[in-house]
Amino acid sequence: MPELPEVELYCRYVARHALQQRITSVRVLDERILGVRKAVLLRALTGRQLTRVRRHGKHLFADAGSTWLHIHFGMSGDLYWYQGDAGQPRFARVIFDFEDGARLAYDDMRLFGVVEVTPDPDAFITEHRLGPDPLDSAFRLPLFRRIVTGRRGAVKSLLLSQDIIAGMGNLYADEALYRASIHPRRAVDTLSAAEVKAIFHSMRAILKEAIAFKSRGGDYPGRYLVQHREEGDRCPLCGGTIQRTVVFGRTTYFCGRHQK
Ligand SMILES: [Zn+2]
Repeated sequence: MPELPEVELYCRYVARHALQQRITSVRVLDERILGVRKAVLLRALTGRQLTRVRRHGKHLFADAGSTWLHIHFGMSGDLYWYQGDAGQPRFARVIFDFEDGARLAYDDMRLFGVVEVTPDPDAFITEHRLGPDPLDSAFRLPLFRRIVTGRRGAVKSLLLSQDIIAGMGNLYADEALYRASIHPRRAVDTLSAAEVKAIFHSMRAILKEAIAFKSRGGDYPGRYLVQHREEGDRCPLCGGTIQRTVVFGRTTYFCGRHQK
């Protein structure tokens, strides 16, 4: 499932290949993926250029002049840049043809994603009540402290609530809490100032590292929890036992020894 680091890489992919070239046609192969009427999408994008791309949480926005292309990748969304019809991916739902003959396909086997246009990303973020993006330069520790203050419930639930922080997925929430040595069920209102700080920094570090690993095509080192997501596995940090539970409806792994 595409999480924030993958969506960041899709943004870079679009920026590397698809900007500053005229879109000669937009082909919708399956209208179920659209968040707007097909005619609206075609009218908004045909003949336009994408000039810049930005990300908020797991949402990609590409500036097309008077409107923005918006993509949410759902469970299995993917982007392919290719030449000629032979490169067309199997589950292509929307294909953008560019004037130099290249194509950008949005591929999505399970159809939980969305392709649409939206007038303004900032208005979209407000309308959809998305919290700040954890890698945004405006997302600083004092803001995170304000967000956390007065909250109750499990800290992992807080990290997964899109209206509080946009785009922290299940794996990354677990990883951040693991590194910060905080139990996923820990009540938010019992966190010390130092613990809030530790979560803030580990959250951002994990996401940045994930983007770096994935952009190099590499895998996570063995010290990462993601390499030990199995009940009874041994914690590489302290030798404790990895445990499994469910928080916020999501399968959760943590170390029973060092996460308090
Ligand atoms: Zn441990």
